[in-house]
Amino acid sequence: MLGHPSWGVKQAGCAPPPLFFAFMNCPICDEVEGRLTAPGGPIYDDGVWLVSHHTGRYTDPGELIVKVRRHVESIADLSGVEASALGPVLRAAVGAVARTVRPERVYVASFGERVRHIHFYVLPRTAALPAGHVFSDVYKRARTLLRGWGLAPNPTGEARAEAARRIRQDEAWKRLQPDP
Ligand SMILES: [Zn+2]
Repeated sequence: MLGHPSWGVKQAGCAPPPLFFAFMNCPICDEVEGRLTAPGGPIYDDGVWLVSHHTGRYTDPGELIVKVRRHVESIADLSGVEASALGPVLRAAVGAVARTVRPERVYVASFGERVRHIHFYVLPRTAALPAGHVFSDVYKRARTLLRGWGLAPNPTGEARAEAARRIRQDEAWKRLQPDP
């Protein structure tokens, strides 16, 4: 089955996506349905929320994406089960990244402009990045261009996969499981 094109899903009260993006397959559904694999594979999957490394080519090791498995385009449309599980999963993801990457801060953000399927970025803001989400974002955008042009060192896919494996070992995920 193909991914869900964004134009096929209604989101109450929100404008449709820009036309260019409307005909794009949903990359998160692609991953949920096994057509795309993140570096290192799934970090956490409880059948409701899936956590894995960012699939971008110029990302830093330890950048995660927390995504709901069902194609849903607004947090307001999450089911009770999805909404109840979200807080603990985000808490575990931030804790695992903090302990594994040891950044200055861990940023959590959800935009949903280009890819409308609900997902949260969990981004370690290391000492190598300027503080503040605007400065940090501008810096990362510039760095992405330089990495794309081969003018700045780009972490390898293996480095990202290794970070995902280390994050998967963190104690936080075990605490999400109900006691046996
Ligand atoms: Zn989707």
